[in-house]
Amino acid sequence: MSLPINHSESYIFSNKPYNFFGDYLREKYGFRVFKLPINAFLGCPNRIEGSGCIFCSDSGSASPSVGSHITISDQMRSALNALRRSDVQTRYIAYFQAYTNTYGDLANLKSIYDEALAFDDIMGLMIGTRPDTINDQIASLIKNYDRSNFELWIELGMQSIHNPSLDYLRRGHSFEDTRKSIDIISRYDIQVSLHVILGIPGESWDDMMKTAETISSMPVNGVKIHHLHVLRNTPLNTMYERGEVPLLSFKSYVSLLCDFVERLRKDITIHRIAGDALEDILVAPRWGLEKGTVQKAVIDEFNRRGTWQGFFCED
Ligand code: SF4
Repeated sequence: MSLPINHSESYIFSNKPYNFFGDYLREKYGFRVFKLPINAFLGCPNRIEGSGCIFCSDSGSASPSVGSHITISDQMRSALNALRRSDVQTRYIAYFQAYTNTYGDLANLKSIYDEALAFDDIMGLMIGTRPDTINDQIASLIKNYDRSNFELWIELGMQSIHNPSLDYLRRGHSFEDTRKSIDIISRYDIQVSLHVILGIPGESWDDMMKTAETISSMPVNGVKIHHLHVLRNTPLNTMYERGEVPLLSFKSYVSLLCDFVERLRKDITIHRIAGDALEDILVAPRWGLEKGTVQKAVIDEFNRRGTWQGFFCED
């Protein structure tokens, strides 16, 4: 993939027209950094007290690489064995991804974070969670892990700034909850990233761009962008089979993603540009399996437009 015409000054960390998180880490530390996905099986209040988000699979939005119910130490060992190379310097971020990883009593949370961070070569802690499960006690506990040359992140499932969309997704929280969490997290000087879904039925182009502009106005360090996709055995799948869920085409998504990223501040790192799912549980759209194709199409589209991340943001 080639660089677009002379835009390199516009990039902060990446040779892409957007600040890809992996490139940011490589530039900052000078070695490879991998996230190790961990499933602590903490559950989720939205699944226990409600019916869960309509898109949520049985694995609680875990990445495909998170396996069955094994201990955190065993998950760490197995991931480290798979990734470690003797000839290349590599470090790792312990990434609590599945379910709600700030849910439960503080002592239990401390013990699971401690277990993951006890391994050698871990230089970061990233905790995925819901916006309505952050408070001062939890932020303070997480802040205690901070040290120099350490990546400390909380990843919030915001999805949209529009409450009707959150109701549609059955998130069980509001955008105001996200705002409050961001305020708490930033007071503790912890980096925050937000999950966003593009293509929620009922959201207009203007609505999605408003989400990008609002993110850029908040103390946010990263975003993880997904397209709406349908997984097996989810309420969304039932709605999709009834013909109630319009999905974005590959072409529409690429265009929309570029529009969105053009409105994101340049310093915000982008942790993902499309949804990720195992082939055997992905119902639609199937183009989501072609990660490399999506990335190439996005870069080509930025090159064609002559734009980049933050193009429409004021400096
Ligand atoms: S908050 Fe996360 S784990 Fe809980 S139901 Fe929604 S997607 Fe699933």
